[in-house]
Amino acid sequence: MRNPIPRRKPGQISQGYTLAEALDEADRCLVCENARCEAACPLHNQIPRWISALKQGRADEAYRIIRETSPMPEICSRLCPQERLCEGACGLGIKYESIAIGQLERFVADVGLKNFKTKEQPIVQPQQRKRLAAVGSGPASLAFAQNLQLQGHPVTVIERWSRLGGVLSWIPHFKLPAEVLDRHLESLRELGVRFQTGVEVRSAGELLKNYDAVFLGVGASRPSSPKIPGIKLGGVLSSTEFLVRVYYDPSSTLPNQWQPLTSLKGQRVGVFGGGDSAMDCVRTAIRLGASEALCFYRRDEANMPGSKKEVRTAKAEGVKFQLLAAPRAFHSRDSRTVSQIECIRMELGAPDSSGRRSPVPVKNSTFMTDVDLVVLAFGYEVEDAFEEKSDLLTPKNLIKTNPVTGATPIPGVFAGGDCVTGPSLVCAAAYAGVVAAQNALRYFNGEPWENLASLEYAD
Ligand SMILES: Cc1cc2nc3c(=O)[nH]c(=O)nc-3n(C[C@H](O)[C@H](O)[C@H](O)COP(=O)(O)OP(=O)(O)OC[C@H]3O[C@@H](n4cnc5c(N)ncnc54)[C@H](O)[C@@H]3O)c2cc1C
Ligand code: SF4
Repeated sequence: MRNPIPRRKPGQISQGYTLAEALDEADRCLVCENARCEAACPLHNQIPRWISALKQGRADEAYRIIRETSPMPEICSRLCPQERLCEGACGLGIKYESIAIGQLERFVADVGLKNFKTKEQPIVQPQQRKRLAAVGSGPASLAFAQNLQLQGHPVTVIERWSRLGGVLSWIPHFKLPAEVLDRHLESLRELGVRFQTGVEVRSAGELLKNYDAVFLGVGASRPSSPKIPGIKLGGVLSSTEFLVRVYYDPSSTLPNQWQPLTSLKGQRVGVFGGGDSAMDCVRTAIRLGASEALCFYRRDEANMPGSKKEVRTAKAEGVKFQLLAAPRAFHSRDSRTVSQIECIRMELGAPDSSGRRSPVPVKNSTFMTDVDLVVLAFGYEVEDAFEEKSDLLTPKNLIKTNPVTGATPIPGVFAGGDCVTGPSLVCAAAYAGVVAAQNALRYFNGEPWENLASLEYAD
């Protein structure tokens, strides 16, 4: 046991661990009983159990153990903010560096995927098979589809856009390479999952005429858009439009007639927001050759909502921060395209409902910054796309479900992921898909819907 040694850094971060590096790092794990890392993982991955297998050099077995709980370890290991989840809870981290659980999981997933057989024998008899539809193709729906298809129930995933994967399809490739998502989708196709693209579902009830149960995994990717003068000028983009135009598969049709964005050479880019998607945007601007990538945020660094690691990395890559600054207006020299940002300085006042100190404008402190492009990363909301609005939605437009089962008030309709919780994480959305799939099986086995949907219901 070599816990005092520092965490093993991968030889090349983008390549991940080699076998020797992974074994070295696994060797530091104390394999705790009642491990806190496991409790902190939204998927409840059995971390000490699979790390034990890895320590013995059995990477395939480690992968098999992870797959008992996680439908997509090759994706979660790359995207989870581990310092807030499993690694943040690692007992070793109290005194030394926590185990690099994310890097190890990525190593195991990349090795295991090559050998793992996804074509399992269907568990149900043909006459007992049910037909299911999953609306949206983000991690929640993909996890739902995988779990039920593995049991032999055919699932059709219905996506309104031409590219599959939900937010995963336009997450920066320096975080999730496109081929990792493509390989995951291919494994689902091999299992028998069917995909329909370019179809926007407007009614869950209509789908129930053709399917025995429906899962709504429609996400929360409508960008929040505050009323700021000049927000409609050319060159002022939502973070969704910006990232989709950069990362969307160019061989698919981009939504909303957007055009691919391939270079920002020599341009000054201002990004507003302090969360992880704001960091994705400024880091992307740097990679596209922007001469300046500025991040404006209305609170200070200690009160930024996103991952500290992302902020540190952005700084190291050359992003400049204008903290305690909020937008007042966007201006244009030619009345068409943005050329200047007008901001006001802020100071921190009393804590607000989130517990963070609220930003208060400082009088007579406006200042101007020249820019060529503005990206707004103020957060995301759920769209109220369904006809069954009043039955399905909470006053905040989230889909009503029993959190233990994923069952909505409409019999046969489950939901999970960001459309239920509001913007969250890939692993949390995947877990919601797994839970809903397990409860769909209970429904098919005769569990009354009142039990599944009741808020008092507990397993
Ligand atoms: C820029 C950005 C970066 C992020 N980075 C990270 C990260 O690094 N790590 C992390 O853990 N999380 C990250 N997240 C959050 C994470 O991506 C989401 O929590 C997760 O994707 C939610 O999954 P989901 O399945 O609920 O929905 P989504 O991934 O949003 O997928 C929903 C899908 O449903 C489709 N859809 C919507 N309505 C309909 C309809 N009526 N009919 C048919 N299809 C429909 C949408 O087109 C979309 O494809 C990020 C989010 C954003 C926006
Ligand atoms: S799924 Fe995410 S939180 Fe869970 S063990 Fe893997 S990296 Fe950690």
